[in-house]
Amino acid sequence: MQARTWIGIAGYVALLLGGAVVATLIGGSAERVLIVFFVSLIAVLGMGIYSGNSGILSFGHLAFMGIAAYLSGILTMPVQMKQVSLANLPAFLGEANMGLLGATVIAVIFAMVVALVVGIVISRLEGSAATIATLGLLVIVHGVIIGARDFTRGSQSFFGVPRLTDLWVAAGCAVLAIVIARLYRDSVLGLKLRAGRDDGLAAGAMGVNVRRQRLIAWVISAGIVALSGVLLGHFLGAFSVKKFYFVDTFALLAMLIVGGMATVTGALAGAILITIVTEVLRRLESGLVIFGYELPDMFGSTNIGIGLIILFVMWKRAGGIFDRLEWDELIFRRTRTAAAPEEMPHAAEEGHTLRAEKVTKAFDGLIAVNEVSVAVGQSEIVGLIGPNGSGKTTLLNVLSGVLPVTSGRVFLDDDDVTGASSARLAGLGIGRTFQNIRLFTSLSVKQNVAVAALRQWPAASGADEKVAAALAAMGLTDKADTQASTLSYGDQRRVEIARALALEPRFLFLDEPAAGMNREETDALMADLKGLCQTRGMGILIVDHDLPLIMRLCERVVVMNEGRVIAEGEPAAVQKDPGVVEAYLGAKGSQQVADALSS
Ligand code: ADP
Ligand code: MG
Repeated sequence: MQARTWIGIAGYVALLLGGAVVATLIGGSAERVLIVFFVSLIAVLGMGIYSGNSGILSFGHLAFMGIAAYLSGILTMPVQMKQVSLANLPAFLGEANMGLLGATVIAVIFAMVVALVVGIVISRLEGSAATIATLGLLVIVHGVIIGARDFTRGSQSFFGVPRLTDLWVAAGCAVLAIVIARLYRDSVLGLKLRAGRDDGLAAGAMGVNVRRQRLIAWVISAGIVALSGVLLGHFLGAFSVKKFYFVDTFALLAMLIVGGMATVTGALAGAILITIVTEVLRRLESGLVIFGYELPDMFGSTNIGIGLIILFVMWKRAGGIFDRLEWDELIFRRTRTAAAPEEMPHAAEEGHTLRAEKVTKAFDGLIAVNEVSVAVGQSEIVGLIGPNGSGKTTLLNVLSGVLPVTSGRVFLDDDDVTGASSARLAGLGIGRTFQNIRLFTSLSVKQNVAVAALRQWPAASGADEKVAAALAAMGLTDKADTQASTLSYGDQRRVEIARALALEPRFLFLDEPAAGMNREETDALMADLKGLCQTRGMGILIVDHDLPLIMRLCERVVVMNEGRVIAEGEPAAVQKDPGVVEAYLGAKGSQQVADALSS
């Protein structure tokens, strides 16, 4: 956690408490508006923890708000009141008479347990499938609340909840929520989840269990939203199930989306903006008097106004007002990067090997990789070449666990790792880059690399050193704080390699790492790779179209064609192989290719 995180938090807290002091001075309706604002803000912050970091919009969070409002209301309601309004409550609830704090703790924990159960399913879903599932959750919980009349009075008003939410309780809880949301965002958990949001496949290959990260965020966010539900119930005193359904979901989502859901600053800005607009438009709705002239009532203008704001912001700035950076990150952009340590030669553990035995990968009818056997040893650079579509990328995907094998076995040393997930293989020492660059585009260069370096967090230490070493090895130390997607093509490829290096891999797969680089950049990269292979003792499996380069760099070359290995051996022998030359450009161009291969 950086000092800057706390500067950011101090800014929010000053704003919230300042607002609370001003509202106390004004009193009356200002206090009420601010309490409602704080309650909404807490809910938005909670939703942002999940949606902002996972990129998955949730329509379901008001279910947790409702659950917590009803449960805490039952727990704090005076016993005589319950005998009248909720006569059929089970005894342990009917006789309960708790303070706000105890009821809050119980309601929040209960909502988080519900979230955990539901989340086990939802966290397995991707994108809009997950969003639809959250919508289902909202509808189901709504139905359950209506059905559980003995507990909730069904669709009738639920009344008699003591009004315990005053301005300072709400302000205190808002501060708590904002601290949790920002700490989560800047934590390793938040970083990993955002990596998964930007590119789930690459995050997996860097050792991130994206589903687990989603589940953690979901449960934390449910707890925060539940807190807002408790406060809301104890502010209103009486409410009905409608309060936790579509209309309010829409209002809270508007706050989240307009402000920018990826940042805490965005949640705050959105909550402020939408609250102000709502207050103004609400007055219009009930016939505002301006200069003695009474405007006609405009029903529905609040929702129409909010809708228009959403449309406008999405049109001008799709990520919301604060798109990617917190206010403090916008102001203090640069951070210090740890000085690069000397490249440490790794303890040369003896004789690692990666072996594929008769690996086959079929896509429906097409056999992309057909009974391929290859091996890579420690400190060895193996070239993998072959015409377009010969199955090179697919082989790397299978060996790194990105795609499941159809048949065959993969061994790491003597362990059978066939079928292991990409995250697990990353942990076992397989790092890779992608043919089509797959960076975490919204993250900085350093954060991209940190995702891999923090794989074992909190168990492992020394992540900062790993990041610094990987950046230095790829010559990226100066660009550590740049947003990854803004770099040149060549630098983006270097970031991908640095990210893989931060896993401290035993084997590194590079899929056309020099594509798009000029001669100079390519030569520099190859010199770096050769150095790394020696100092770190890694085995490298490299795919590239630049044949002379592969021939110079590699001790051994494997040639694929139409899914099969057609030749394997020392570069000098392979390049004379007539089968290879022919496969490469057909018999016609053989002579030219032979020339190219031997140049
Ligand atoms: P290379 O990297 O050697 O150019 P690929 O491994 O990308 O080749 O592709 C090998 C073959 O598998 C091609 O015919 C390609 O169209 C096919 N292929 C690759 N990925 C998929 C996929 N996800 N689904 C279906 N076919 C695929
Ligand atoms: Mg390829």
